[in-house]
Amino acid sequence: MSPWRLLSDGFLHFEKMKTVQPSIPVVLITGASSGIGRATARQLHERGCRVYGAARRVERMADLQEAGIGVLPLDVTRSESACACVEAVVEREGRIDVLINNAGYGLYGAVEDVSLDDARRQLEVNLIGPALMTQLVLPYMRRQGRGRIVNVSSMAGKVYTAYGAWYHASKFGLEGWSDSLRLELKPFGIDVVLVEPGLIRTPWADTALDHLEQSARKGVYHASAQRVAGVMRRLYASRLGTTPDRLARTMVRAALTKHPRDRYLTGFLARPSVLVRRLLPVSWLDAFIRLIERV
Ligand code: NDP
Repeated sequence: MSPWRLLSDGFLHFEKMKTVQPSIPVVLITGASSGIGRATARQLHERGCRVYGAARRVERMADLQEAGIGVLPLDVTRSESACACVEAVVEREGRIDVLINNAGYGLYGAVEDVSLDDARRQLEVNLIGPALMTQLVLPYMRRQGRGRIVNVSSMAGKVYTAYGAWYHASKFGLEGWSDSLRLELKPFGIDVVLVEPGLIRTPWADTALDHLEQSARKGVYHASAQRVAGVMRRLYASRLGTTPDRLARTMVRAALTKHPRDRYLTGFLARPSVLVRRLLPVSWLDAFIRLIERV
């Protein structure tokens, strides 16, 4: 499309790149081999986007590939892997319009029981990973004069529970990091959007709770950790949780809407938890959380 336009004053005007909207957005989404990422990749594809899904378990994305979605290997903790992933998209499409930093997992366990190596890995995947991917796409987005970074945080970036310390650290961190980034990128026409899901029925809970139970085995936190894991497992196994397909609708909105909000808090328990956190003094909130963990 030519950047020159004939306007009502009869002169040809050169329109800057940023006013030229690409008709088909190019989207790169991390963590597309499962759960929220997989559902979002599918829905974006159905909406006509050129979608690239990335994750370590490429074999789990064979169905996405068959559906016409680009599939790329990616470990967000390895710079070479992240670099190759972004380069592959740019080589094929010439641009990246939306990066969705969705890859992540929950490292649950008592602070005393979780090794610092495991804790570092949690921050590497959930916080440094999005930073790495963002650094890699920004030169292209700045050159385009437009773009969008969608970071998948959590209600766990706003509220807390026992035994989730490192996960909360990663998501609370992602919240502040994204707010700073939004200010930095505004002048370049690049949006930064947070999605803060509540309880979503994906394999996320198995990873988090298996680790909680294993790390607490035979230690002083054993009984309490078992109880908390039991409550969470029951919640995730129930029909109460939001489905990934449902959550993906919000993800699509966050990625494509013309004027995005700074954050989308959505999914089972997300809004009530954040409301309770805002209303209650911390001592009451602590007592309330302890009560729930005994249910
Ligand atoms: P899943 O376990 O279903 O999916 C996690 C995805 O992250 C997988 O595709 C996995 O791919 C990918 N991933 C994990 N580690 C890496 C890595 N090192 N490099 C690249 N990809 C990686 O969980 P969800 O879909 O539920 O989680 C998606 C996001 O949503 C996460 O950030 C999570 O914290 C957040 N979230 C989830 C909630 C829930 O209740 N489910 C609630 C709030 C937020 P692979 O292993 O193949 O690399």
